[in-house]
Amino acid sequence: MSARILDGRALARRIEEGLRSEVGLLKDRTGGTPHLVNIVLGDSHGACAYAHSQRRAAEAIGLRYDVLELPGTVTQSELIERIEALNEDPDVHGLMVHKPLPERMDGRAIANRVAIEKDVEGVNVTNVGRMLLGETDIIPCTPAAVMELLRTAEVRLRGADVVIVGASEIVGKPLSLLLLREYATVTVCHVATSEAGRLEGHVARAGILVVAVGKAGLIPGTWIREGTVVIDVGINRVGDRTVGDVDFDGAVARAGAITPVPGGVGPVTVMMLMRNGVTAYRRQALIEEGS
Ligand code: NAD
Repeated sequence: MSARILDGRALARRIEEGLRSEVGLLKDRTGGTPHLVNIVLGDSHGACAYAHSQRRAAEAIGLRYDVLELPGTVTQSELIERIEALNEDPDVHGLMVHKPLPERMDGRAIANRVAIEKDVEGVNVTNVGRMLLGETDIIPCTPAAVMELLRTAEVRLRGADVVIVGASEIVGKPLSLLLLREYATVTVCHVATSEAGRLEGHVARAGILVVAVGKAGLIPGTWIREGTVVIDVGINRVGDRTVGDVDFDGAVARAGAITPVPGGVGPVTVMMLMRNGVTAYRRQALIEEGS
């Protein structure tokens, strides 16, 4: 058996079309266009590649997108000043700060300074709390992309045994909440699961497996149960290739469906950011309009 390939690029194109027409309608109604600003500190290759794909997506949809580059030497209070200036700017509707931040900065304090209504990554503690309670539609982009891939592949979540490997604040933890909301039975594994020698056992009983760690080859194909839906979030450079955390060639022979890397979760994540930008704009513009 060979797994169905969940094509993230094709899904991203479909979402892009929908967003483009939504932005057109909003422009007719409000006379304005959503404007996103990405704050990048220093010059990292990762930040450039990510900003490049965001810019391409924004242009395709008709959003305005700017990168505000700050020197790597910027202090936390200078960064916060810039964030607050953008919070106050009525011409900016969505705001994000590229991660990882330098170690000398307090990432939580910075995330909390992004205005709640402009927080398109859903990282401000108020938005995190609202997500826990199911009270916001601004969902962190990567977990939102995983949910979108599962939804469009018509994977049944209610009662499914979902195993997430990786428990980060931006992927594993928020994803576990979204899956719980759909009544999946969720197990979250992390570094201590591996230390305890229990990772294989959990992976082997997953009906749906999501891996977000950042270690190439962490999950050998032989661990995967026949028919499992595998979502590989990992992005790793191995020589001149980009690969995920799952051994794709081994897994594709056993899984029921699988996302490739590249071309799986990544392109959908960028579209989820765009969608959050459109949602943030709609709120801000229509509140002003009084409707
Ligand atoms: P992170 O470093 O913040 O978290 C990694 C998690 O993996 C932690 O919970 C840690 O406990 C766990 N872990 C580490 N070693 C482990 C092991 N041996 N066994 C089991 N668990 C282990 O990482 P992150 O920011 O969540 O990113 C994870 C991966 O996903 C990276 O490769 C990143 O590039 C990728 N990513 C992709 C997208 C996308 O859009 N495709 C978005 C965000 C992150």
